[in-house]
Amino acid sequence: MRIATPSWTSHRGTALDVALEVLINGPVSRAQIARTLDLSAGSLTRLAQPLIESGLLVEVGEQSSGHVGRPSRLLDVVADSRHFIGIKLTGDSALGVVTNLRAQVVTQASTPLESREPSAVIAALGHLVGELRASVQEVTAVGLGIGGLVAPDGTVLAAPFLEWVNVELGARLEAATGLPVVVANDLVAFTEYERWFGGGRNLERFAVVTLGAGIGYGLVAGGLVVQSDDAGLGLIGHWPVDPYGPLCEAGHRGCARTILTQSAISGAVSEALKSDVSYDQALDLAAAGDLAARTIVENAARGLGHLIAAIANLTMPQLVILGGEGVRLVSVAGPAVRQGLSERRDPRATDVALLTTSGDDAEWCRGAAVLALQTHVLGTDTSTGNEEASERTAAAAVGLPPAS
Ligand SMILES: [Zn+2]
Repeated sequence: MRIATPSWTSHRGTALDVALEVLINGPVSRAQIARTLDLSAGSLTRLAQPLIESGLLVEVGEQSSGHVGRPSRLLDVVADSRHFIGIKLTGDSALGVVTNLRAQVVTQASTPLESREPSAVIAALGHLVGELRASVQEVTAVGLGIGGLVAPDGTVLAAPFLEWVNVELGARLEAATGLPVVVANDLVAFTEYERWFGGGRNLERFAVVTLGAGIGYGLVAGGLVVQSDDAGLGLIGHWPVDPYGPLCEAGHRGCARTILTQSAISGAVSEALKSDVSYDQALDLAAAGDLAARTIVENAARGLGHLIAAIANLTMPQLVILGGEGVRLVSVAGPAVRQGLSERRDPRATDVALLTTSGDDAEWCRGAAVLALQTHVLGTDTSTGNEEASERTAAAAVGLPPAS
């Protein structure tokens, strides 16, 4: 029996939409909420009053409309009224954060994994959750992002970098911590953060591309993360970006994972220089003008541009968000990314809006915390699969396990 996440509010329908609008965009004026949700002032007052009385929303001052008439009162949530833990699990460590109701990081901690054996990993996760929850009064739920294939019940069907098959991670971590736990593919988590609180907030269509040990992709269309049973397989990693590149293990020449991953770039530079260099060293060398490193890094950046062009041509996003621990490639070789992008776009096409995130590992954790936060806010009971909420959080994306 899984533990149900306690519900943020019992209100449903348009009242929940009002609460969500304030959570995601607050502080926001009543006039703005009424416009966005197409409500009359009277309807909004009727819907908002019980939300304010229950302490879910608060009035936080007024905003002049700039026109004649009364200023509109602002509504907000109390961001620190709830806390969530978000964890990113990799092959050798677990990093966790505590966030508030707005997914802002309050504190973080990490633990190395001594072993990849499920019992040992779950014990380490239990310890990490214990350390994190001690920093706040109460934790509502835990979210966990993992590079792999995850069933809706939180069972990890396949996580190659941990060599896991069918590990009931969600249920076992709940038993270890006594807290509700949501487990999902890490790209889904990353994309959900961007959809609710990040650069994709209020956008109908946007894409996420992450660079790192693998290449990840998430797509939001119609305001929802596009869902697929294949989330967690390396779909985008096999997209061709360089016709002369090396072969991947599936026999593709120059697919994204052979050109754009951290190990592909550091490996190619190491081979050229006959000396082992790390990913960051490879980028440093390229930035300093080393000819071999610069050629390899700019070729990768141009390949990334081709990949973004394909995404833009096929899905017409309003924004492409670039993230992941390897995203520094974009700042070191930005012009090459733009060059690759323009090579594969119709010259009349609009410029693709790009947003580069920090690449900090905590971004993955914040995404995982949003998974937990969404089940709380939308009232998803992970053990039963609440239909309304599962429709709202309909989510999937594609993540690659580390190439090593
Ligand atoms: Zn491939």
